[in-house]
Amino acid sequence: MNKSIFEAAQPILNNLITHDYQAYFVGGSVRDYLMHKEIHDIDITTSATPDEIEAIFDKTIPIGREHGTINVVYKHEQYEITTFRAEGEYDDHRRPNAVYFVRDLYEDVKRRDFTMNAIAMDTHYHILDYFNGQQDIENKIIRTVGDAAERFNEDALRIIRGLRFQAQLGFMLEESTYLGMKSHIASIEHLSIERIIVELKKLFTGKYITQSYNNLKSLNAFNYITYFNQFDFTKFQVNLPVEFTLLIAALKVQQPMVEASLSMLKISNQEKKAITKYERLIQTIPNISSKNDLKYFVYDYGKVDIINVLNHSELLHDNQIIDLQPLIVNRDTINETYAQLPITSRKQIAINGNDILTTLNQPGGAWLKPLLRDIECAIIRGEINNQKNEILEWVKTHVKI
Ligand code: ATP
Ligand code: MG
Repeated sequence: MNKSIFEAAQPILNNLITHDYQAYFVGGSVRDYLMHKEIHDIDITTSATPDEIEAIFDKTIPIGREHGTINVVYKHEQYEITTFRAEGEYDDHRRPNAVYFVRDLYEDVKRRDFTMNAIAMDTHYHILDYFNGQQDIENKIIRTVGDAAERFNEDALRIIRGLRFQAQLGFMLEESTYLGMKSHIASIEHLSIERIIVELKKLFTGKYITQSYNNLKSLNAFNYITYFNQFDFTKFQVNLPVEFTLLIAALKVQQPMVEASLSMLKISNQEKKAITKYERLIQTIPNISSKNDLKYFVYDYGKVDIINVLNHSELLHDNQIIDLQPLIVNRDTINETYAQLPITSRKQIAINGNDILTTLNQPGGAWLKPLLRDIECAIIRGEINNQKNEILEWVKTHVKI
């Protein structure tokens, strides 16, 4: 069992305790510890207010002061410390009208989403479990803290989080928790797409995606999420974990009539590019019919992304997107072809546009781009060597102006 991450944070809790505050580990780290899983980051909860935290630590960063969250920098690591807090009423299904700092751990864990996430642990590994979270972990059950309908009505993101935990942990949804999700699913339309996507990314890469995805569908969740509501999910299956960008690409290729813009997702440009690249990559596969096609394909898309797509052949098959041609496009042919490529990027070509203009004594123009592509392809096919003189000779004999 990996306690070292807690050991490393002990001095922080001890500092708070020495100053007469209460301090506990809480949330995902305690849940994962109890499940003997790897712990990635720890959350600390304390009775000290943000001012009080800042007064007793040398290096602090006020990352979410108004919500009571201060990061403490200790031995080059950052630790997130949050003041015990209670929440006021919710009017908009996503955030409380007010948060109050309180001095009582019970009040703090009561506002947390699920019983398994509401367990606190002190520096001696003693567990404080007001809502029988340990029992639910034991029985593999996801259950809200308190009345499910009320908790989902307050913050509808908890519905998506519940399904995300189901995908990651393979737990069952307790009945009233599922019914609460069902009765409040429409409220997810009030959430920001950014918050939803944080959870969906984790959900789709969860080991137990099938059950969770089927619940998303049976709850009609996608009807209430921008962008997704343009697609028909009744004809889309997901039975294995899949990276978010590849999922969206597969959806787009399956349903090309949908015109929804990726900008609705408010994802990074890098992610948008990854989606477009996967989309083209998937569409190109059926056109590969020769060794040269395969060389261009591997050169253009790189082996990492191609192999990632090959690893999802089932997703592509189940959704009638494409059937891979295992004889031509498989891991071995991709690796072999890649290893034999004379160049792996345009930057490696031994000449540039200027060299061509000088050789041909011509002004630049739209013709240059396709010519560079022809040169690139000739090098990839092995028709010419990637050497300046040889390329320029080839250009002279192949270009008619
Ligand atoms: P992970 O292991 O993926 O980080 P986590 O349970 O730590 O999972 P976080 O999003 O890091 O999830 O949140 C930390 C804790 O804050 C949760 O365990 C839960 O106690 C509480 N929490 C987070 N979001 C909500 C929410 N929307 N409503 C109530 N409590 C929440
Ligand atoms: Mg966490």
